[in-house]
Amino acid sequence: MIPLAEVLRRHWPAYERKFGARLLPSHRRAVQAIVSCRTPALGAQLFGCGCGRRELVYHSCNHRACPQCGHADATEWLHRQRRKLLPVPYYLVTFTVPAQLRKIIRSNQKLLDALLIREAAFALIDVAREHKDLGAELGLLAVLQTWTRDLRFHPHVHCVVPGGGLSDDGLRWVRPKSSAYFLPQSVLAKRFRTRLKRALQQRAPKLFVQIPRKTWQRDWVADVQPVGSGEPALKYLAAYVYRTAFSAEKIVADDGAHVTFTYRDNEGRNRAMRLTGEKFLHRFLQHVLPRGLQRVRHFGWLSAAAKARLARVRVLLDWQPPKPWPEPVVFVPQCPCCKKPMLLIGRLPRPPPSR
Ligand SMILES: [Zn+2]
Ligand SMILES: [Zn+2]
Repeated sequence: MIPLAEVLRRHWPAYERKFGARLLPSHRRAVQAIVSCRTPALGAQLFGCGCGRRELVYHSCNHRACPQCGHADATEWLHRQRRKLLPVPYYLVTFTVPAQLRKIIRSNQKLLDALLIREAAFALIDVAREHKDLGAELGLLAVLQTWTRDLRFHPHVHCVVPGGGLSDDGLRWVRPKSSAYFLPQSVLAKRFRTRLKRALQQRAPKLFVQIPRKTWQRDWVADVQPVGSGEPALKYLAAYVYRTAFSAEKIVADDGAHVTFTYRDNEGRNRAMRLTGEKFLHRFLQHVLPRGLQRVRHFGWLSAAAKARLARVRVLLDWQPPKPWPEPVVFVPQCPCCKKPMLLIGRLPRPPPSR
């Protein structure tokens, strides 16, 4: 197992020399953060114990593309989302875009990623409100994921949706027809296609004209899966929400020229992929999201602006959220000799930049 930081340290200098000014600032920032995470470059805290022992604890980079930092955030996110689960059947609805759109999305992530999440969520909200099989206002959580298991660029949006919604007058909770069926996939896919096409025409007309016309004529794909209490879907997504495309345990070899990583294919078999250092970096960096883009968003009565309607949903379902988890405790290391908590006795500032 080889840490991602080590691979980046080895291959980034050549990559930077080759692509120079064409590199995105967000990609540079991500690489700089990851290679300096928990090293003297970010400074440290010095802890001491009565027995005389001293321990240096280096600071984390807290960059969302950093595999060392993402895990703690993912765990906390899962705890928070779990508390919000309602006592209704849940569905995982996934919207995918056709291959012809991928390249244009990859080159325009800042604008198009945000549109993808928004239009997928509102396609669901529209269909839920208008379709005869439901006719209710939804609340939902939407998550953008950009990669496949072997880390190719494949943007898609997962929506975790409580099955059911508020009636027009807000006085009733409307249930789906059955726990196995929520809304028709083909109708959802068509609505997503229509909404995304219109959004691109209005918000990015110059990009819209570059998209082959047949992209809008073929059938798009939306997938609806019942996921019971919703918990399995949240667990599945937590791994992506705060984690980067390369979690450290996947990289198994780096001989200075080629990097090998393992992944599970769709059938659950372990596979290995060997790429040149440059190709590896390219694959990793295409999943580093632009600054400020929210990968996760809440919509409908689960959005931050709809607290009153969420309160109404809870009343209608006669349900109270469980007590919050205790706040995460501030990290204090334990003395390796006497196993007592150590005291913070000093700070090591980060060294000034060498450039
Ligand atoms: Zn980090
Ligand atoms: Zn001690």
